[in-house]
Amino acid sequence: MEVTCRCGWVTRGSKSEVVENVREHGLSAHRLQVTPDEVRAIWRAVSETAGDRNGAKK
Ligand SMILES: [Zn+2]
Repeated sequence: MEVTCRCGWVTRGSKSEVVENVREHGLSAHRLQVTPDEVRAIWRAVSETAGDRNGAKK
């Protein structure tokens, strides 16, 4: 998943990672409490293997 903040900050990772990162960013950068529901409303699905076309999956 990927989330782009209004300020241009971008984070990528698994769903739980993105939720954690956005909550942390919201607090430290904007002094905003971000709920997991709010993160789900703005995240986008991105390929986890983008940029790696060797097909090597864990
Ligand atoms: Zn931001």
